[in-house]
Amino acid sequence: MHYAWPCAPTEKASVIEQPQCSDSASNAFDAIDACMHCGLCIESCPTYRATGIESDSPRGRLQLMRAVHEQRLTTEDIQPALERCVQCHACESSCPSNVDYSGLLHDNLKENKSLVATVMANKVLSNLAGFMLQISSRLGLHRFIRRLPQHKFSRALMLTPDNTKRFSAKQKIHPANGDLRAKVALQLGCIERQINGDIIDDLIAVFTHQGFELHIVEQESCCGAIHYHTGDATTGTAMAKECASSFGKFDFVVSLSAGCSAHLQQQSGKNTFYDPLIFLATQGLRSRLKAVKAKAAWMVPCHLKHLQDNWQQVGAMLSDIPQLHLIEFNDNDLCCGAGGAAMITKPQLSSAMGDAKAHCLNDAQPQRILSSNSGCRMQVDAHLRFIGSRQRTEHPLRILALALGVDEHIKRR
Ligand code: SF4
Ligand code: SF4
Repeated sequence: MHYAWPCAPTEKASVIEQPQCSDSASNAFDAIDACMHCGLCIESCPTYRATGIESDSPRGRLQLMRAVHEQRLTTEDIQPALERCVQCHACESSCPSNVDYSGLLHDNLKENKSLVATVMANKVLSNLAGFMLQISSRLGLHRFIRRLPQHKFSRALMLTPDNTKRFSAKQKIHPANGDLRAKVALQLGCIERQINGDIIDDLIAVFTHQGFELHIVEQESCCGAIHYHTGDATTGTAMAKECASSFGKFDFVVSLSAGCSAHLQQQSGKNTFYDPLIFLATQGLRSRLKAVKAKAAWMVPCHLKHLQDNWQQVGAMLSDIPQLHLIEFNDNDLCCGAGGAAMITKPQLSSAMGDAKAHCLNDAQPQRILSSNSGCRMQVDAHLRFIGSRQRTEHPLRILALALGVDEHIKRR
């Protein structure tokens, strides 16, 4: 839900006279007024947990928005605090008043287009960036770059995984094994196709084995999630609608990026976009699962946990794998700091969160760490590396491929 914001200032506002707000601005005030300052959201907010500062909390940010509405502050005054929100949606899940925090945030956040958003919006530039990542990975340049002082640009490279593989679609349609259950389109995403070729291979193997015909769709443009998260809601929404239209003829579209599928679903208003694990969990696996013996920590991406109702079915599906024990670890509910474009745009804050997550995982000593979101995996792997841990994250599709016995392509790597 979006609100017109703020109402225009009156020429001579007095302490007695109330500004004359339009209906939409008064709706905005009602929305913000729904916050009763109870503070139940505070502990779930990763930025507040990282700094302990009220203006880094949802309640503090809402108070700043109220101050703009009451003309005590300007929209510009509150941008730094709003930009520090990693848009994890955790506060909304814990709010008893159902405050529409995200709607209000996006109505108050001004555009702050990052270099990443510019690169991802342009197919040539994103392909070039992907090519450079491949070269860096093959020549081991990232090891040298990791020794450089942290800067926005070098940090982006520091976060890239040790091994990246570009996905090249050798065939557009991957037929289902056995009886056809449904035709499913794969949204490749801007980042996924550049670095996660191995995981896309896992996805194809699992989906086709489970009776789904997989169509690789070359969408024309980025879905706009990054634009939306960096304050350009108009462009982000328009891009989502255009991207969604590339998949018009499919009833089911899966995307490896939780951020992309959640954004496409929200902005296009179509319930056809799925996280692949949620899709598999809701459709059900039709094969017996082999044992995968491990104590595993499962990091649920924020967009899955807070925006999609049926994410718990994924946990149940993974728990069905014999001898795979999902373990609890501290602060699993807190964002790892990869949210939005924070990894690049807010390196210090993001690092504090990534560091905390890496320590929590390291303390729990899992044998495998599962995460289905690329941004989270890049962030957590980098911080595990920074604290000297040799552990790295894996996509749960890898575990499913092993459990379903469709890991021939993995053995060949
Ligand atoms: S939990 Fe909701 S009502 Fe309570 S302080 Fe946070 S936003 Fe306000
Ligand atoms: S979206 Fe996340 S980071 Fe932003 S205020 Fe809510 S809990 Fe905090």
